[in-house]
Amino acid sequence: MSPSSTSPGLVCAHHHLYSSLARGMPAPPRTPTNFLQILEQVWWRLDVALDAEMIRWSAMLGALEALESGCTAIIDHHESPSCIEGSLDLIADACAKVGVRVSCAYGVTDRHGTDGARAGLAENERFLREGGRGLVGIHAAFTCSDETLNAASELADDLGVGVHIHVAEGIDDIDAPSRLAGLTNDRWLLVHGVHLPDDHGLKGTIVHNPRSNMNNAVGYARPARFSNSVALGTDGIGAAMFDEFRVAFARLRESDVTASPEDAWRWLETNRQLFPEVADDTVTWSYDSIEPWHLAYTTDIRAVDVTINGELVLANGTATRVDADEVRARAAEQATRLFAKL
Ligand SMILES: [Zn+2]
Repeated sequence: MSPSSTSPGLVCAHHHLYSSLARGMPAPPRTPTNFLQILEQVWWRLDVALDAEMIRWSAMLGALEALESGCTAIIDHHESPSCIEGSLDLIADACAKVGVRVSCAYGVTDRHGTDGARAGLAENERFLREGGRGLVGIHAAFTCSDETLNAASELADDLGVGVHIHVAEGIDDIDAPSRLAGLTNDRWLLVHGVHLPDDHGLKGTIVHNPRSNMNNAVGYARPARFSNSVALGTDGIGAAMFDEFRVAFARLRESDVTASPEDAWRWLETNRQLFPEVADDTVTWSYDSIEPWHLAYTTDIRAVDVTINGELVLANGTATRVDADEVRARAAEQATRLFAKL
């Protein structure tokens, strides 16, 4: 790509908009010492506390922050066990208000019994059959029965969409390749893949989330070893994709000094293939060389103007469709409610 101050929209290939309110949440009763304890003591306490207003304003805040980062499309993975039905509409509506594109999925799981799994499947089906843009979500093989994995896979096939699933993020999910054998196809998003063998046999795009993997101390996925295409996600830590690109490159380079920023840049390009509409979006940046060798070593690049589908939705760094101060204030109110519940 030649030096330029504009680019098509960026895509976050794996986000959790429901985690936007989590920053500053009360510390868990005990310090988690491994990934499963992080899930149990942080994320599975948070997601069960979410109600409709929290989901709405968490998504509004996450969508606003994405827009401000030049990310015009979000591939979201959602879970709210106490508020399942209609939750994907709340997220889609919030993103539409801000003007950001979104692909929704509800992460089906048997953590709350077969009724919970059925409700999650039903929410995916309802949303997609009503014309929503999305994928069928599965939390992860290790929290699902074979019946649930098969049902979600069949639903996705029926609807002609892929499955968005965490795969082998921690060692607890080491059996994922055998559990998912025969179910996957090229439409699937296989998120993380840290503990996948090189020849895992699963089809789909591997979504690499380097900062999240480091935060959870689950290890380095070494995505360059896979024959699958590789994309980049944030796993809920914002949607600043040039940041994630820089972390992905630093992590790659740490293990291979011959690695080039162009390698991680190709992963970012895969994101756009997952959401081709962003070719119609434009981002004008505060820096004039939007190419890998510059951006790998240049921090604090800001999106100045963003058009999505022909509409100017960020002008001189300010959202045009929503009042950013109001979104932040309403999200802060919901965060206070959420923390009180925790
Ligand atoms: Zn995730």
